[in-house]
Amino acid sequence: MKKKNLADRTLLCHDDQAYWDHKGAIVPPIYQNSLFAFDGWDAIDDAFSNMSQSYVYSRLHNPGSRIVEEKLAALAGAEDAKLTASGMGAISAAILHYVKHGDHIVTIKDLYAPANTFINEFLKEKCGIACTFVNGTRLEAFAEAINERTKLIYLESPASITMSLQDIKAVVALAKEKGIKIVIDNTWASPLYQKCIQMGVDLEVHSVSKYLGGHSDIVAGVILGSKKELASILTKEHALLGPKMAPFESWLLLRSLRTFTLRMKAHNDSGLQVAKYLEAHPEVVKVNHPGLESFPQYQLGKEQMSGYGSLMSFELKTRDIDKIKNFVNALQIFHLGVSWGGHESLVYAPVISYMKELPPDRFDAMGIVPGLIRISVGLEEPKDLIKDLGSALALIN
Ligand SMILES: *Cc1c(COP(=O)(O)O)cnc(C)c1O
Repeated sequence: MKKKNLADRTLLCHDDQAYWDHKGAIVPPIYQNSLFAFDGWDAIDDAFSNMSQSYVYSRLHNPGSRIVEEKLAALAGAEDAKLTASGMGAISAAILHYVKHGDHIVTIKDLYAPANTFINEFLKEKCGIACTFVNGTRLEAFAEAINERTKLIYLESPASITMSLQDIKAVVALAKEKGIKIVIDNTWASPLYQKCIQMGVDLEVHSVSKYLGGHSDIVAGVILGSKKELASILTKEHALLGPKMAPFESWLLLRSLRTFTLRMKAHNDSGLQVAKYLEAHPEVVKVNHPGLESFPQYQLGKEQMSGYGSLMSFELKTRDIDKIKNFVNALQIFHLGVSWGGHESLVYAPVISYMKELPPDRFDAMGIVPGLIRISVGLEEPKDLIKDLGSALALIN
């Protein structure tokens, strides 16, 4: 789909066909329409014969979304893409595409909590789908968990709380040998820094609400994969469950993609600076960031990613919940909130929601301790962020 072999940065800034299709408008318009009219019986008949390509009704395709889908597919090295109303919309559609009643899924213990709940509770209770949660850092754990009913391995690398990695190529090789499909949540590294489709995964999903959107003003998702799989998802999981992207959201996303490579470079650089600062701080036990040489899977990270996201977690030395609260409340630039990947730096203590979202055994299995703090490094001057963290850390002792 990458027509002129453009570099990622050019691809995302440049519109070729879209420009000419819209009277030369340098920013394509928002198509705020539910349906498309046809000039005769044969034309609508043809459209229905080729639903995966046609504009019939905006629950399936919308021209504004298509521009973005083509850009994202080219960026990820995938044949096609489908935007969805949220990251969870992409995750649930991609998983449901591969499993049915009686099947078995293998996934990681430290999975994004709503995906964990979807698999472990929703699919189990409503659809009779079984699941095994493994320590994804051990390749043998996947092999041990696979049984004759396993249809899907669902990965998230790096995982968004612990930043732990899975060896993507090795898990793909294992899955292919057994005829098992692989879906990966690639939100952390983004389609810029980790090319999962080229590593052989069947479908790649993202929460576009994070780096791809980047401005904390949209909730959206995307599924990337082959034309064949995407055409099937379009007419099944997407058309029937209806997690469609709104026209305005896809227009905002096109705006976001113009600066995506520049933003990711800034996130990569500032994130590493902040991670190194925290790692050297006496009140910090350890920092989970795959770009630190102290990270247990540093080498693997270098092999499968060409850059890093700026979401990281670190463990405070103190276990005293009042001191941890004081630290979080003392931060001036880091805002307290969920989500990540936007222009603004954020802080969050996973202990706040995970204790409510997940049963204690799952919570423990994820390796979350009360002193675990998660930060998303935004686009501010990193020196200001480091100063902010330093002042708040100084209060602990
Ligand atoms: C936020 C997030 C999601 C869910 O995305 P939404 O757009 O909020 O539905 C999925 N995976 C990861 C890793 C996330 O951080």
